[in-house]
Amino acid sequence: MSKPKITVIGSINMDLVTKTNTIPKVGETVLGESFFTIPGGKGANQAVAAARLGAGVTMIGCVGDDAFGNELKNHLTAQGVSVENVKTIPETSTGIASITLSNGDNSIIIVSGANHFVTPEVVKQHEHLIAESDIVLLQLEIPLQSVMEAVQLAKRHNVQVILNPAPIQKLPKELILQVDYITPNEHEQEMLLSASNMSDEELKLVKEKCIVTKGSKGVMLYQYGETLIQGYKVNAVDSTGAGDSFNGALAFSLSNGAALKESCQFANAVAALSVTKLGAQAGMPTLDEVEAFVS
Ligand code: ADP
Repeated sequence: MSKPKITVIGSINMDLVTKTNTIPKVGETVLGESFFTIPGGKGANQAVAAARLGAGVTMIGCVGDDAFGNELKNHLTAQGVSVENVKTIPETSTGIASITLSNGDNSIIIVSGANHFVTPEVVKQHEHLIAESDIVLLQLEIPLQSVMEAVQLAKRHNVQVILNPAPIQKLPKELILQVDYITPNEHEQEMLLSASNMSDEELKLVKEKCIVTKGSKGVMLYQYGETLIQGYKVNAVDSTGAGDSFNGALAFSLSNGAALKESCQFANAVAALSVTKLGAQAGMPTLDEVEAFVS
């Protein structure tokens, strides 16, 4: 059987994590405890989740012409994600998230950098790739116009689209109505349905496409009435990227031809496994690991 083809159009970031006892006030300098870099960005995370499971994943995105850009492309390649269509943008920084962790609190600065350059034109240049995909997987860390372009191209070629509406923002209802599946978490679902100015009929249609992730409680789908898939009881160590694991796994399973409920059950197991290890991508399991976990 040939591998399912998933195209992820989205962000590629390096997370720069500093641990410190004291967060400096304006004008103050403090000594931190430790520093590390972790590959991230919702697009890249979801691409890695699907590739680990065995999908043929192509990433469309942009990095800057700095050291992080190269490192992230090499990293994605090592994880089995094709980066042939990841563009390097001259004189631009790679997207970063600067994260300060201090005694259980965190503060985060995100700089989109090269992710801004995933323009509608860049998306258009890859129409052939979109057309050949089994599924296109999207999030909201690239310009919204580009997400809309990707959805239109996918629909032109009858390709299924999953939209993970994160980070949540006000979305045009045309976009929401066109995608096949929307995967908000509980907080995003509220914003999604309240902010988009839809009629009751449209709201009903949209709700049926919603697959709502509910953290440790599991997943709710609304396609044939409400169905709750219970979360697995695991020793949760780090829930960063749980949603990304879920989306990558959902895309993998649907593109393999599995039904929606079965795919959500599978993604629920993948995401549960992912929270048992530290780091968004580090905990993303292989298919063998998932099979061992659910058996
Ligand atoms: P996000 O990371 O986008 O906020 P959630 O927190 O809803 O998303 O998590 C996504 C999915 O990850 C959940 O639907 C569930 O399948 C799994 N998950 C998250 N946290 C846990 C947990 N503590 N135990 C088991 N599964 C979890």
